[in-house]
Amino acid sequence: MVYHGAVSARFNFHRGSPALDFVGTLGGRAFVPEERLPDPAALDAWIREAGLVDGRTHATAAHLRAARALRESTAVVFAALAARTAVPRAEVAALNEAARASALATPALAGRQLHVRWSSDRPVDAALGRIAADAIDVVATRRERLVRCERDGCGALLLSASRGAPRRWCSMETCGNVAKVAAHRARVRAAAAKDGATGGAAPPTRRRTIGR
Ligand SMILES: [Zn+2]
Repeated sequence: MVYHGAVSARFNFHRGSPALDFVGTLGGRAFVPEERLPDPAALDAWIREAGLVDGRTHATAAHLRAARALRESTAVVFAALAARTAVPRAEVAALNEAARASALATPALAGRQLHVRWSSDRPVDAALGRIAADAIDVVATRRERLVRCERDGCGALLLSASRGAPRRWCSMETCGNVAKVAAHRARVRAAAAKDGATGGAAPPTRRRTIGR
């Protein structure tokens, strides 16, 4: 239980779709990659937190290999679309193949709140199939909304809320705040450099306009 708690603290679900959140289980892609699915138990924890299938899962080493392969095919396809470049056909074929397992999961309405619950005799395979099916849905219906987080050092793939209002950061609590603080510091530095260049003798009337 302690282990799962430690793992879950490293997962987040803010990118706009399960497939994008799954791509995010390899963090720091552009710099120093951080593997957030180091073992099958971590994959079980992610599937549980994402709510992709009902009940406990027991992932194997083979499941973990398949999951990472699906994740990287998804990342390649999404990255190409976000960059508005050609999508590799082999990765599309891999997504199509992986999505066949989505048929292993069956939805049912449960409880007074009528939540949807997905059940399966092969829950890990079904969960991976549902991730692939979600990736296909993103490509088919929302590809123009795929963007990258603009914070230096992040670059995570995200889904904008709409085409007209592009999302710029993972979330305001994380990258958005960091980016805004960095931009503010850069403005302060630029203003200080400007003052330094004039010997700090800028007239008071000009000083009052700084920071508006
Ligand atoms: Zn970010």
